[in-house]
Amino acid sequence: MARRKKIYEGKAKIMYEGPEPGTLVQYFKDDATAFNAQKRATLEGKGVLNNRISEFIMTQLNRIGVPTHFIRRLNMREQLVREVEIIPVEVICRNVAAGTICKRLGLEEGEPLPRSIVEFCYKNDALQDPLVAEEHITAFNWATTQEIDDIISLTLRINDFMSGMFAAVGIRLIDFKLEFGRLYEGDMVRTVLADEISPDSCRLWDIETNEKMDKDRFRRDLGNVTEAYAEVARRLGIMREGPRAANDETLQ
Ligand code: 5GP
Repeated sequence: MARRKKIYEGKAKIMYEGPEPGTLVQYFKDDATAFNAQKRATLEGKGVLNNRISEFIMTQLNRIGVPTHFIRRLNMREQLVREVEIIPVEVICRNVAAGTICKRLGLEEGEPLPRSIVEFCYKNDALQDPLVAEEHITAFNWATTQEIDDIISLTLRINDFMSGMFAAVGIRLIDFKLEFGRLYEGDMVRTVLADEISPDSCRLWDIETNEKMDKDRFRRDLGNVTEAYAEVARRLGIMREGPRAANDETLQ
């Protein structure tokens, strides 16, 4: 069988040409990176877990009317997605102070924020994804004012939905990162959710114990990273088994 053409390789995923025009195959790797790829590791089974968790969340979001690039999961590590033009802005939504907002504003980790805050970072590894204002986004034509309005309202809907979904299984949604893309349909362009939503891109704490169940376990050397991701999957009802199931590539 002919090897599929690689379109793009990122730190945790690879995009391949899809089976039909306008589609791509998103492959989830086991690679983990942090601090602008200065820290690297391979975490066996992480890609399988993120593929499943992201499939689950994107499917639920599609159901409540949030447009996403997700079409369907193909196998343990791959999903079929619509090809979109990625808007070069990372959208961060925060409910509780953690990570860079603590350093930037001198907040205590775990302090609830007065309201949910949406931030934008310019997607640029060489510049370490700097925080930017809407002014920068429109001035440099990274996105239009209309696209920013759409992105903010979709992000807040996603936040409401995911906060409830995770709270129902004993998890606090502290913050998360989203990416959006432009989907071209004839003369129309739609802003849709792209990339992934997984413990790599969210902060998730156990409601009772505040134990971290996300990529901070890797960033801060807390250990049991894939075990924590598997617990998120288990609580969401995606995987009945423990982390061993995530490593079993024969499972579909
Ligand atoms: P912070 O700005 O505090 O580092 O991150 C805020 C939230 O966005 C966290 O949930 C973090 O995991 C996520 N995030 C920020 N930048 C990135 C990124 O480049 N990649 C991924 N996967 N997540 C990110």
